[in-house]
Amino acid sequence: MNKFVAAVAVSLIGATGAMANVTEEMLANDQTITDQIVTNGMGRHLQRYSPLDTLNKDNVKSLVPAWAFSLGGEKQRGQETQPLIYDGVMYITGSYSRMYAIDVKTGKELWQYDARLPEGILPCCDVINRGAAIYGDKVIFGTLDARIVALDAKTGDVVWRDKIANYKEGYSYTAAPLIVNGLVITGNSGGEFGIVGTVQARDVNTGDMVWERPVIEGHMGTLNGEPSTMTGELNATWPGDMWKTGGGATWLGGSYDARTDTLIFGAGNPAPWNSWLRDAGQDNSGKGDNLYAASRIGIDPATGEIKWHYQTTPREGWDYDGVNEVVAFDDKDGNQRLATADRNGFFYVLDAADGGFVSAAPFVKDISWASGIDDTGRPIFNEDNRPGDPTEAADGKKGDVIFASPSFLGGKNWMPMAFSQNTGNFYVPSNEWGMDIWNEPISYKKGAAYLGAGFTIKPNYEDHIGSLKAIDPATGDWVWEYKNDAPLWSGVMTTAGGLVFFGTPEGEFIALDDATGEKLWSFQTGSGIVGQPVTWEQDGEQYVSIMSGWGGAVPLWGGEVAKKVNYLNQGGLMWTFRLPKEMASN
Ligand code: CA
Repeated sequence: MNKFVAAVAVSLIGATGAMANVTEEMLANDQTITDQIVTNGMGRHLQRYSPLDTLNKDNVKSLVPAWAFSLGGEKQRGQETQPLIYDGVMYITGSYSRMYAIDVKTGKELWQYDARLPEGILPCCDVINRGAAIYGDKVIFGTLDARIVALDAKTGDVVWRDKIANYKEGYSYTAAPLIVNGLVITGNSGGEFGIVGTVQARDVNTGDMVWERPVIEGHMGTLNGEPSTMTGELNATWPGDMWKTGGGATWLGGSYDARTDTLIFGAGNPAPWNSWLRDAGQDNSGKGDNLYAASRIGIDPATGEIKWHYQTTPREGWDYDGVNEVVAFDDKDGNQRLATADRNGFFYVLDAADGGFVSAAPFVKDISWASGIDDTGRPIFNEDNRPGDPTEAADGKKGDVIFASPSFLGGKNWMPMAFSQNTGNFYVPSNEWGMDIWNEPISYKKGAAYLGAGFTIKPNYEDHIGSLKAIDPATGDWVWEYKNDAPLWSGVMTTAGGLVFFGTPEGEFIALDDATGEKLWSFQTGSGIVGQPVTWEQDGEQYVSIMSGWGGAVPLWGGEVAKKVNYLNQGGLMWTFRLPKEMASN
């Protein structure tokens, strides 16, 4: 019996209710098993591509609501979850660190867990959560007070919980955990508070820490409770003691490339934002690169050792976090590749073997901070597009203001792109906006914002900020673009039926033609969509789900973007759609 058949057999046993035991095999094959969703990303390589083609370009017009589930209460804030589906149950997370188990046939609640957060949590960008992980008989998620909790999947009772970091120092947690070989692997959030980004691996059955890997140079890792190795080389790219509060939050979680047995995590902005305090404004020699902030990092899952890194924004000075998801794919020539669309506006293709630079091309229109990426993968900086040094200002308090594009919220933020095995293209949710930004003096204070910068976000175009693009990874060319008035903030999903699903802040859940970008179907969900779509098969019918509930980082920042979103209603509904059997052949 080959691996795939074995996985399907176990899955069928699960579906009868005889046992509920999610295995490594099921996680490893999630992208091909169509009656479950047991990983964030619909497969740990994060392609978000479903091989289902029952629902297709011809019959998507017959997709109808099956049920909707309200998260209830007064806690209607941004809902960014990706549902998990296993053994007849849907598991979703909600704002304020809540989790729900729902009967997937009826939409009826089975149980609900509320993490009951302490006073004084410090989430930077809304009280969101992006989803759970599932393994064995447990569902696992992280909370805004920087804890990780494992619940009994049948009852919602706590099995174990552990502290990722101290929330009073500015740490929090919002990403979906990643499970590989019995380890539950998490990053952390808090990059605007001078925290230190780390990746932690725990035994999924007990919660015991196995290894920890800080991602800022100079910090020591641990393995089995003992110090292991130092990250990077002390003071190679950081001045003085700045590395001790150097940021690099690993806040979006990671992916796992089974082809090379590598975890891939991104690290956010170096702290503080004022790059002159980190030597990053001084010259382009590399001494102010501030490794491994604003980088993608390949990690050995067994030991936590760093295998490779690729820094998208050395000398970072615009809050271009390097956390955006890295998607593993094979290119048209069969080469093993990685792709990522960075906050800084460039779409990168890397070699899966060692993270080596292959190519980069803009995926937004007006990148100002760099004129391109050179053959070595290093940006060609426009030095006059760096916010000015406040110590050079007459009053020493506010450096020169510059207009930079993209804005600090990025050409693309957290919202995951998708790869289609049908077309070979990536579908990238992007935003066309810039910002006025300036630097100010700042010193570190535990638990306080650590920016040393101010900003105002501005749309680059009157008629749209949001822009979903189909991108050919071989050339970087845009095959088509779909424009949206408000900034896009939802995940994207592709299917073998030739469909591209995503949602808008205006509340529409939309299916486009993957070849042309033509709108084939849409449904008004009643609140803005910042969730992540999934699709699966149940009783011979294809289902599609999306979370609706406006919020996230966009409405928290005013600027001139506010008028595009300040009329939108909040909400909190899990929508599930189905294609009725009798419509499937139409
Ligand atoms: Ca940041």
